[in-house]
Amino acid sequence: MHELSLIQALIDMVVKSAIENNIKKVTKVQLVVGEYYGALPETLEFAFAILTEGTVCAGSELAIEKRTLLLKCRECAYEFRPEGYLYSCPNCTAVNAALVKGRELYVDYYEGE
Ligand SMILES: [Zn+2]
Repeated sequence: MHELSLIQALIDMVVKSAIENNIKKVTKVQLVVGEYYGALPETLEFAFAILTEGTVCAGSELAIEKRTLLLKCRECAYEFRPEGYLYSCPNCTAVNAALVKGRELYVDYYEGE
């Protein structure tokens, strides 16, 4: 499962940081996930619940902030949101776009005690 590998590294980071900061129990993890990954929130929550078992993050709340995709046309510099899998520019119809936003994947912050 794709989401498992995405989230494993993030959990490792939180666990390492929590141990370093002498936090016994993490209560909440705020995640930022770009639309690019196509990860469903419920799948991420499921992966999170499995992967945090037996760690300081076990039982913590996972909050997900989604970032929408934004592309920029390399031909005319027009910025647009892609519709489905059509990445052609609505302004000049060129299919030559660069990803501006939507590839974020990180832990914004976490709370613990
Ligand atoms: Zn264009």
